[in-house]
Amino acid sequence: MADIIRLLPDHVANQIAAGEVVQRPSSVVKELMENAIDAGATEIQLIIKDGGKTLIQVVDNGKGMSGTDARLSFERHATSKIQKAEDLFNLHTKGFRGEALASIAAIAHVEMLTKTEDDDIGTKIKIEGSKIVTQEVVVAPKGTSMLVKNLFFNIPARRNFLKSDQVEYRHIADEFHRISLAHPQVAFNFYNNGSDVFQLPANDFRKRIVHIFGRKTDEKLVPVEEETQVVKISGYIQKPEFAKKSRGEQFFFANNRFIKSPYLHHAILGAFEGVIRPGTHPGYFLNLEVDPATIDINIHPTKTEVKFDDEHTLYAMLKSTVKHSLGQFNVVPALDFEQDQNLDTPYSYKNKAVGIPQVVVDSSFNPFETTQPPKGNSGGSYSKPKVDGWESLYSGLETSSDTNESHLEFESEVVNSSIFDGEKEAVDHTTTTFQLRKKYIITTIKSGMVVINQSRAHQRVLYENFLKNITIKEAVSQQLLFPLTLSFSPSEIHILKEIKENLCTVGFVFGDLTEEGVEIKGVPVLVAESEVQMIMEQLISDFQQEVPGDSFSQSDMLAKTLAKTLSVKTGESLDEFSQVKLVNDLFACKETTLSPFNKKVYITITENDIERKFI
Ligand code: ADP
Ligand code: MG
Repeated sequence: MADIIRLLPDHVANQIAAGEVVQRPSSVVKELMENAIDAGATEIQLIIKDGGKTLIQVVDNGKGMSGTDARLSFERHATSKIQKAEDLFNLHTKGFRGEALASIAAIAHVEMLTKTEDDDIGTKIKIEGSKIVTQEVVVAPKGTSMLVKNLFFNIPARRNFLKSDQVEYRHIADEFHRISLAHPQVAFNFYNNGSDVFQLPANDFRKRIVHIFGRKTDEKLVPVEEETQVVKISGYIQKPEFAKKSRGEQFFFANNRFIKSPYLHHAILGAFEGVIRPGTHPGYFLNLEVDPATIDINIHPTKTEVKFDDEHTLYAMLKSTVKHSLGQFNVVPALDFEQDQNLDTPYSYKNKAVGIPQVVVDSSFNPFETTQPPKGNSGGSYSKPKVDGWESLYSGLETSSDTNESHLEFESEVVNSSIFDGEKEAVDHTTTTFQLRKKYIITTIKSGMVVINQSRAHQRVLYENFLKNITIKEAVSQQLLFPLTLSFSPSEIHILKEIKENLCTVGFVFGDLTEEGVEIKGVPVLVAESEVQMIMEQLISDFQQEVPGDSFSQSDMLAKTLAKTLSVKTGESLDEFSQVKLVNDLFACKETTLSPFNKKVYITITENDIERKFI
């Protein structure tokens, strides 16, 4: 039989390798920017178009390449950064595999312009799908410019797999944040579709953080500093009161390289335990400097995961160092999570002349009670539900006979939350309800009983309500007497701009929207002023995962987030009126069985089921 094994041609091998190195435009950005850093650049420009799909350019003032090196750099396994295997254990550069340029050139149109300090003239190389198209001698400044166009032009499947421009932009911005934070001493500029997004002068770490995440960040930072034989820890944590709903700003750098480490992240969570609200995430920007010989950055092809020799020691040190900083800067005792949120000005200014503002205080609030205080007017009132159709579920319960039963209270605690204001008269009092474990509402139907998950039911009700508002664009908003100014980082502002139009349809009214923050002049009637910040953070965090392309799914996501954030939660006790109203509203919904997140809203237990238990 004839021999059948053959070496793959280079361009095929390169394309295969590219699959690993280049997943999306942001991978190209990472490789090119890291090459610029490795070349000793003090100034780096990143220019992209259409989420990097049409164009990515990185211009640096680093050491450049000679004509021969320029050509060689596109060969696979061509690198100037390591020479022998031992060098792998003493890495001081970002790159070392020598695969990036070969891979990128295999799947895009690339133009390189480069010149070294010593040469008088530079080199320009055009390469497309691994084939060198031209190589010329040209006049060029010192440094290197890499232009990558039409990514995946020869792999349509990969190109189609790319997400929307906004999503790809966001991945690139993340990469830009990571690299520019790891190298504050290098100046960076970032242009997206012709407008400049970031101008970061060379600076210290703190100023770099502030430049990227907004001026307001400065006051949130607490320094962290510790030096031992194993590791030098430096950087900043954010004060606990600024912990966010979204994962947000969490950065570890090991020897100036952004890394992900769930294990070390856990150490930070441990240090913050008890000082931040459950469900919120602490922010941190921490540099770990270790001996390069004790760290293995080779375990993952995209190189964000690393292996430390002595992870346990590192864990313990990190936790105690962060704890120490929290204590030293006296940030722990300043917290008060038990504060009555009713005092957070949930007034309604509607139809009122300007006067002395009234503060609503919950007279039933007992400071010694361990349960959560009431939620202000979070639920709010909305139009009277249509009850036709579902009533048939109920047996003809008579008000009089039921009053006896309602003494059988399931909960002994004081019922202290009313999620619906006003319109008490509107509720059908023929329904009897009980609340069980501050989690379920129980009510009777013809065949037995229904157990309703209160939180999911309320999510469903709010979701349909918001969706309706968005569709008919007739949301009612309440003007704020004093507009709120909330500050956000530029990338958060970017997201807000994308969803602003839809936010207006649910009732938000915006004033100025600048690079640093947003002014909010009005909010949907269902939203209390004190909740606005939290809601905005949740929205941004949800949309950060992905902004849906079409406007329908954007509205859907918005309605879901609002429903999730504003709904009654497990652990809140509801007064009888609210329970009945929730039941009525739920069964007036178009869909009653599932929450917006596809979770079961209620179960039914028939008389038969009960009978069987007694056998
Ligand atoms: P690696 O970074 O792993 O060495 P690359 O494929 O990214 O592999 O780059 C190959 C080589 O090209 C590098 O080792 C370096 O010598 C050279 N090079 C790439 N980009 C630049 C740049 N911006 N400035 C100077 N030299 C560069
Ligand atoms: Mg490289």
